[in-house]
Order: sequence, then C-alpha cells, then structure tokens
Amino acid sequence: MQEKKTLILQIKHRLMDTREQKQMLLDSRYLRMTQIWAENSYCRRRQVGALLVKDKMIISDGYNGTPAGFENVCEEDDHTKPYVLHAEANAITKVARSNNSSDGATLYITTSPCMECSKLIIQAGIARVVFGEYYRMHDGVDLLCRAGIEVVHLWHRDGEYRSITLTSENSERHYQTVEKYLATQSQ
Ligand SMILES: [Zn+2]
Repeated sequence: MQEKKTLILQIKHRLMDTREQKQMLLDSRYLRMTQIWAENSYCRRRQVGALLVKDKMIISDGYNGTPAGFENVCEEDDHTKPYVLHAEANAITKVARSNNSSDGATLYITTSPCMECSKLIIQAGIARVVFGEYYRMHDGVDLLCRAGIEVVHLWHRDGEYRSITLTSENSERHYQTVEKYLATQSQ
C-alpha cells in the first residue's frame, strides 16, 4: 500500500515536472521573441521589447519609443527624453485601441518593469508577468507580487534557462542572488 502511494506520488511529481517544463519552454520562446521585438526600438541606451499573450495568441506588442507622431529619437544630450514610452506601456495602450482585452493575459518583457509600468500592469488586469533580466531596481516587481500577480523571472544561468516565481517573501533574496551571480560573470 505504502509502495503504491509512493509510486502515485512519484508519477504526480513527474507529471507536474513535465507541465512546468512545457510552460518554461513556451515562456522561453516568447521571451526570445520579445528580445527580437526589442530590436525595433530606435532607443540607443536600451532596447526593450514586450508581448502580451492571451489564450496562446499574441494580442499586443510594444517596444520603448516616443509616442506616435514624434520623431524617432529617444535621447537628448545622452538622456532619455521624458516622453519616451516604455515597452510595457506601449503594449498595454496598443491593446486598449484594439478589440482585445488584456484582462487575464500574460505579459512577456525583456527587462523587469519599473514602478510606473507595474501600476499599469495591475490596472490592465494582467495575470502573469515573465521577464528576462532585472533593470536597476526591483520595486516594480515587488508591487506586482503584492497585487497577487504571478511574476516569473526567466533567466540564463550556467548555460541553461531557470525560472523562479517571485513572491513578496523571496523577491529581495532572489534579486541579490542574481546580482551576485552577474558580478561573478563580469569578472
Ligand atoms: Zn516602465
């Protein structure tokens, strides 16, 4: 009986593993697409890409840049112009003009969202956020965690993808782990 139970548990774990692995594979592919999409940005300091996915469909996309009708220059005296929109903000506002809804969607972003974009993500009803690398701070990520949004950091470590679901409890610690790892890589 005990053996049978153990076996069932093992199978359950294995099934969960494959489901999680499948999700990670899908996430890594969408994330790679956002990295390519970021190449559309004419910003010189940093190119960021975002994709909004719902029911396995890409319903919106964005990259950082100036609003429609403005010249395609993001920087002035080596500073980013104040009216440059972030990739996430562009993806969210783009879907607002369409017949789609961001409610319950997953947002893929090359870099972690800032505080301002995180507010938009919450209000847009986005359920899940997957990002590839940290950008400066983690306060935006923390806000998303507090709002109950599933936040996943999908990163490359020692040649393979790793995925971690962030919570208010582990966010700070994970950020430090990443910082430490990156410091060893740049030596
Ligand atoms: Zn932002």
